[in-house]
Amino acid sequence: MRTILISLLTFMFPLWAFAQRPTSVPYDDGPLNVFESVESIIFYIVIPIVIITLYVIWRIRRRNEKKREGGKYKSENASKKTDNKMDNKHVVQIRSIDHVTHDTLRVVTEKPAGYTFSPGQATDIAINKNGWQNERRPFTFTSLPGDPYLEFIIKTYPEHDGATDKLLEVKEGDELILHEVFGAITYKGEGVFIAGGAGITPFISIFRDLSKKNKIGNNFLIFANKTTADIILKDELESLLSDSVVHILSEEETEEYEYGLISKDFIKDFMEDDGQYFYICGPPAMMDAVESQLSELDVAKDKIVKESW
Ligand SMILES: Cc1cc2nc3c(=O)[nH]c(=O)nc-3n(C[C@H](O)[C@H](O)[C@H](O)COP(=O)(O)OP(=O)(O)OC[C@H]3O[C@@H](n4cnc5c(N)ncnc54)[C@H](O)[C@@H]3O)c2cc1C
Repeated sequence: MRTILISLLTFMFPLWAFAQRPTSVPYDDGPLNVFESVESIIFYIVIPIVIITLYVIWRIRRRNEKKREGGKYKSENASKKTDNKMDNKHVVQIRSIDHVTHDTLRVVTEKPAGYTFSPGQATDIAINKNGWQNERRPFTFTSLPGDPYLEFIIKTYPEHDGATDKLLEVKEGDELILHEVFGAITYKGEGVFIAGGAGITPFISIFRDLSKKNKIGNNFLIFANKTTADIILKDELESLLSDSVVHILSEEETEEYEYGLISKDFIKDFMEDDGQYFYICGPPAMMDAVESQLSELDVAKDKIVKESW
């Protein structure tokens, strides 16, 4: 509006000035009349209009540019503010993604500066693709706190049509959104670790950490799966724990492994009288069954460390 007013005044001024010239004083060409010839119309009318129009256009364009720059600046600042508010959200690039079993992925990502966790802890993860940024799912770190990268072992469920199914489409270079670190499972002392399927993930980080510190000690792993093909990181676990691991399969009979579901008698074989801990992680049905078996075996509640999925 200010530009238009200034332009109008600028345009009016020469007309007003010329109109003030004394018409009674004879000039060589006679008194001033801006409409007396094509030249004077061009000089006094057309040229100011063209100049003022160009000036107005320039001002409007300049104002729009400023608006755009201002808008961009504002939205950048706004998103920074939102990011800060969003419980330490971190966007990380995937360095590698591959299968460790037929339905389980190993995802390795960048590690944000200052991002720390303890073995056994987890974070909510979302895929940074349109429509998926708010689909947060909890997953456990399987890398060690000191590693310069983050690793997750993730079982996929195509039948859920959810985030783990979408993860099957994700490639190296794509991004994930990580949130705050949380988790109930931390290592408290030697004991029996009972894992069902992907429930092994918090124990992977704990065993890797203990092994690095030469403190695997008297820990023991009972690992329940449906079939041999479902056993996650079988070779690594056997190498970390030597003889202190037993596999139990519910849907495949083999000569090598136990067959059936975990039972009270099964657990009893691995019990010692030294106040050992029992760490449990797996699907809710397995967790409920094992917890009541431990209770029947008189294991104190404060000796049970668990994470239910
Ligand atoms: C603290 C914590 C840590 C975890 N860490 C890991 C880990 O490291 N690795 C890992 O693999 N998993 C981990 N999980 C489990 C993991 O979070 C879930 O498997 C995952 O959220 C499933 O996501 P989704 O989008 O595929 O399924 P969602 O759509 O989120 O489904 C969630 C739940 O809904 C039910 N459901 C949905 N659709 C179906 C269906 N068609 N049939 C049957 N049931 C259905 C299931 O109970 C399923 O678990 C962890 C869970 C917790 C709580």
